[in-house]
Amino acid sequence: MRQKELVLGGLTPLSTIDFPGRLGAVFYTQGCPLRCRYCHNPELWPAQAPAALAWPAVMAWLHRRRGLLDAVVFSGGEPTAQGALGAALVQVRDLGFETALHTAGVYPKRLAEILPRLDWVGLDIKAPFDRYPKLTGVPGSGEKAEQALTAVLASGVDYELRTTVHHQLLAPEDLMAMAHNLRSYGVRRWVLQEFRTQGCTDAALACMPSRLDPALVARLRALVPDITVRAAA
Ligand code: SF4
Repeated sequence: MRQKELVLGGLTPLSTIDFPGRLGAVFYTQGCPLRCRYCHNPELWPAQAPAALAWPAVMAWLHRRRGLLDAVVFSGGEPTAQGALGAALVQVRDLGFETALHTAGVYPKRLAEILPRLDWVGLDIKAPFDRYPKLTGVPGSGEKAEQALTAVLASGVDYELRTTVHHQLLAPEDLMAMAHNLRSYGVRRWVLQEFRTQGCTDAALACMPSRLDPALVARLRALVPDITVRAAA
C-alpha cells in the first residue's frame, strides 16, 4: 500500500544552488536503499524512521512562502523511494511552485511516471554502469540508473547529470569510459563534483580529499563539452 504522505527527514528553507537559476526550498526525503561510500546524509538511509517534519505542517509553511520562493527541490535520501512523491509534486505545483528532483535513479519506473510533474532533474551518474555495485553496495543499481537516464533524456525535462569524484572510487579511465557512454546518449550537461569530506562517515575516504586534474577534465570536455566542475569547499 502506498504511503499517503511524504516522509521528510529535514528541510532547507532557502537555497540558490539546488535548482540552477531558482530560489528554492529543499525537502529531504527519508529513506535510501543505496549505501554510497561518500554519502553525506546517512541519517536519511532508514526508510522506517519517523518523519522529522509533518507533511501538513510543511505544506502550511510552503503556503506562506508563495511569492518568496520559485521552487521546491525534492532531495534525499532517495525521493523516488516513496510512492507519495507523485502526489506531493502535484500539491506543490498547485501552490504555484516549480518542482525539481535530486535522484540516483534507483526506481526508474516511478521516475518515468513523475517526470511530467517536474521542471528540472539532477540525476546522479555515479560510475560506469557496470561498476555501480562497487560504489553503491547494491547489485543491479547500475542497470536502474541507466534506465533512469534513458527516461530523463526521453522526457525533454531540463536536467543535469552529476558525478561525485573521489580518486579511490573513480579512476581517470572510469571517467573517460563514462564520458564516451554519455556522449553516445547525447548528454549535454554533466557536473563533476569534487568529493567533500563534510558529513562522510567513511573514514578511508574522508581523510583523503580528492581533486580533479584539469588535464583530465579537458579530455572529458572533448567528449561532453558542457562539463562544470564543482570544487570542494
Ligand atoms: S544515493 Fe544519495 S542518499 Fe543514497 S546513499 Fe547514495 S549519496 Fe546517500
